[in-house]
Amino acid sequence: MFKINENFLKLPGSYLFSTIGKKVASFKENNPDKEVISLGIGDVTQPLAPAVIDAMHKAVDEMSKAETFHGYAPDLGYEFLRKAIVENDYRSRGVEIALDEIFISDGAKSDSGNIVDIFSCDNKIAVTDPVYPVYVDSNAMAGKTGDYLPDQERWSNVIYMPCTAENDFVPDLPEEAPDIIYICCPNNPTGTALKKDDLQKWVNYANENKAVIIYDAAYEAYISEEDVPHSIFECDGAKTCAIEMRSFSKNAGFTGTRLGFTVIPKELMCGETSVNSLWARRHGTKFNGAPYIIQRAGEAVYSDEGKAQTREQIAYYMNNAKEIRGALSDMGYDVYGGVNAPYIWLKTPDGMKSWDFFDLLLEKANVVGTPGSGFGPSGEGYFRLTAFGSSENTKKALERIKSL
Ligand SMILES: *Cc1c(COP(=O)(O)O)cnc(C)c1O
Repeated sequence: MFKINENFLKLPGSYLFSTIGKKVASFKENNPDKEVISLGIGDVTQPLAPAVIDAMHKAVDEMSKAETFHGYAPDLGYEFLRKAIVENDYRSRGVEIALDEIFISDGAKSDSGNIVDIFSCDNKIAVTDPVYPVYVDSNAMAGKTGDYLPDQERWSNVIYMPCTAENDFVPDLPEEAPDIIYICCPNNPTGTALKKDDLQKWVNYANENKAVIIYDAAYEAYISEEDVPHSIFECDGAKTCAIEMRSFSKNAGFTGTRLGFTVIPKELMCGETSVNSLWARRHGTKFNGAPYIIQRAGEAVYSDEGKAQTREQIAYYMNNAKEIRGALSDMGYDVYGGVNAPYIWLKTPDGMKSWDFFDLLLEKANVVGTPGSGFGPSGEGYFRLTAFGSSENTKKALERIKSL
């Protein structure tokens, strides 16, 4: 008789977005005359840049002729794209990454979920609290997180590092040494980012403790401050302890188009074994490449027009972020994030529970956000608004919050 992977049964239901969906649907049904504005979803809304669309059209035409048709892509991804990454994302910041240290994929969510394949079940992971749920759930599915403790909203075998206003959203080094450390910077959901010195401390700590850092830099393009590193490899010694994941979703609007990459330096060793070669083996076996058309689209993000056009999209979202920050601060809210990331993380007024504030905002202002407690127990009392809406809706939502 076949058996299932029982680790899946231990997973708590992912109630966050389904609960939000249900509450919003029921509100709309009871209030058909009300227009609800969502600043809740973590998805882009601007269309793909013209340079990207042109590259896609051209690649589609190439696929129509035998001479220029493309079948399976090379295991690591097309060299034209990896070269553009080496040049623009790394060399331009003084970091040397070799072409065979880059693995093109269909996105950072799959990569951050799949990376568990190459690590032993005995590893203990450390995550921030609040956290992007993929890191924990993918480890739970592989049986690496112990048991779920519902009353604590935590797994028994995971090290949680609270990130709150009290520590400026910079995780403290844990008392118990983890083997694998997940860092998302700039952060989803808090919208905050680590400065170079803070990240360097983590790199030193990982090297001293022979731990590996899985660094999710999906929001790298939103960094506006000088002392926030764009890549973990800007830190000394990071090549012996870090894996970096990037995505085209948030910097160029590829959420529905799918493209990302992972960088694993050859210096990253576990004893005699190269982690790069393990991932190459895994990638070659279980993944057959991102589509040619999409890799050409990704290449166009690095063209002069592509850079200018995507920079404009990011500026559009970050202008929303600035409006949200400014308006909420003027209303007396404590607000965080929104400077190096398209998320604003705010303290709920008068210590209100995250879900109570959600209900208040929905019912009285007809605005949807995301309760902080949905990202982990340390998110209780916080609330996330995104800058991914249209500028008109963002302004309208702020007016309504003001009149609460
Ligand atoms: C949006 C997001 C990603 C990007 O995922 P893709 O699969 O590339 O679309 C990765 N990490 C975090 C934290 C995100 O919020």
